[in-house]
Amino acid sequence: MDDEQLRPNFWEKYTLDQLTTAEWEALCDGCGGCCLEKFLDDPESPYEVEYTDVACKLLDCSTGYCSNYENRQQFVPECVSLTADKLPDMMWLPSNCAYKLIYLGEGLPKWHLLLTQDIELTKQGMREDGVGVAGRCVSENQVNEDDLEDRIVRWIQA
Ligand code: SF4
Ligand code: SF4
Repeated sequence: MDDEQLRPNFWEKYTLDQLTTAEWEALCDGCGGCCLEKFLDDPESPYEVEYTDVACKLLDCSTGYCSNYENRQQFVPECVSLTADKLPDMMWLPSNCAYKLIYLGEGLPKWHLLLTQDIELTKQGMREDGVGVAGRCVSENQVNEDDLEDRIVRWIQA
């Protein structure tokens, strides 16, 4: 990411629908939480979600990053492209997700890369806050769909 593409403190000064593509992308902390299989228990109550530790087949479970982000829709058509207008219906996103936090009028987590400008500090902060799926999820390719309910975890919450 070229920081020159980002307006200073854009996340405080502009609404989500006013962001440039580069600014929008820079908000993602790469936690991978949105790539986990989950149960949305009540469509009317989007906060009522139960996450599993089972990840989309394209997620690299060691890094927590999508292994083919550019072409992901080709392989996972149901992958949600996050946009400002979809956010109101996406409160199932994890509590650390910057898009959700900004939408709700809250600030970025103190470890967010936009604040620290230091990837190691960010990684350390995420570890301390227990944020991120890297190293603690398994690919859906390795799990029987019938076993999903047994894979519900509590380390990630909406
Ligand atoms: S949950 Fe939010 S911050 Fe985390 S990877 Fe998904 S979009 Fe990015
Ligand atoms: S296709 Fe990539 S971005 Fe989409 S859910 Fe799967 S791993 Fe995540």
